[in-house]
Amino acid sequence: MSNKIKNPTPQSISIYASLVISMVILLLFGVFSVSKLVNFDFTEIIILFLSVFFTCYLVFSYFLKNYIYRKIKLIYKNIRSTKITGSENSKSIDLSNNVFQDVGEEVALWAENRNKEIETLKAMETYRRNFLGDISHELKTPIFNIQGYIHTLLEGGLYDEKINKKFLTRAANNVERLHFIVEDLEAISRLETGEMKLDVQTFGTRKLTEEVIEDLEMTAEEMNIELSFKEGADQNFEVRADREKIRRVLMNLVVNSIKYGKIDGHTKIGFYDMDSYILIEVADNGIGIEKEHLKRVFERFFRADKSRSRKQGGSGLGLSIVKHITEAHKQTINLRSTYGVGSTFGFTLEKE
Ligand code: ADP
Repeated sequence: MSNKIKNPTPQSISIYASLVISMVILLLFGVFSVSKLVNFDFTEIIILFLSVFFTCYLVFSYFLKNYIYRKIKLIYKNIRSTKITGSENSKSIDLSNNVFQDVGEEVALWAENRNKEIETLKAMETYRRNFLGDISHELKTPIFNIQGYIHTLLEGGLYDEKINKKFLTRAANNVERLHFIVEDLEAISRLETGEMKLDVQTFGTRKLTEEVIEDLEMTAEEMNIELSFKEGADQNFEVRADREKIRRVLMNLVVNSIKYGKIDGHTKIGFYDMDSYILIEVADNGIGIEKEHLKRVFERFFRADKSRSRKQGGSGLGLSIVKHITEAHKQTINLRSTYGVGSTFGFTLEKE
């Protein structure tokens, strides 16, 4: 009741106002009757009261409706992106509702959405700024190196048998690094804009992993790292995913296990049945990742071991691409690692 008094609806305002006016008129007629100025019987007084009440109610409702409609229209014009439609005219206002409370709620919701929009825009702006900064930082080092080698060669080094081939090779390595960075950047941007469509098909996990192992065997040999299936977890599973993109995920994870591996180490790949999906794990006994870096390794350009990553020509984008690809498949990726002991990366795939 007290809420109704505090927040009256337009209808109750009209009723109260009409009642007050009718009572005043009734009182006046009462005074006139006592002073014998008018002579109404009881029925006439009731009819007069009701007629005054209903006339006042209709007049009040009409003006209130129009007044409210004009005010609300102004507010809606500002907060709604769509135009007020023809059907939303003053007739559509329900006076028995607390119109002002409804508008207040809609304005509050609008303000909340606006705040969220602003927050998202701010986050995107920071992301864009950081991304540009990161890219230029990444490109600067190889460009600077290439510049140095070429200048030294032009300034006479070209005829120096001791350095000419070495510097040209180093320049070529840096060009290759630039190429990898640009390729990874392209992949990331296509994944982020959703341009990269998934070509989902059914394939066997074992065959794909065998192909990846075969491709990387030579690289692994340089560190005498053994690439193999995990004993007891080498059974083939048919999965549904984009085979080429999953090859890239596996490639990135196995390449990392070699890059951040220990000499004479090993990398084991295992498949685990998890009911509706399959968990694929790539486990190494390499250098591991410090606890404080675990959460950040999937961020683009983040490197836990900066010197080794750069030495090995890493773009710092590999795990970020891996995360994007698994998320595009609506699957998850996780990491367990102990510094000095090794790391295990696991991602899921939908079972056929
Ligand atoms: P990068 O090109 O530097 O290898 P990634 O995105 O692939 O970039 O990896 C990010 C960082 O995570 C690496 O710089 C490295 O410090 C760490 N990392 C990734 N995989 C491993 C691993 N298997 N063992 C230890 N550290 C790893």
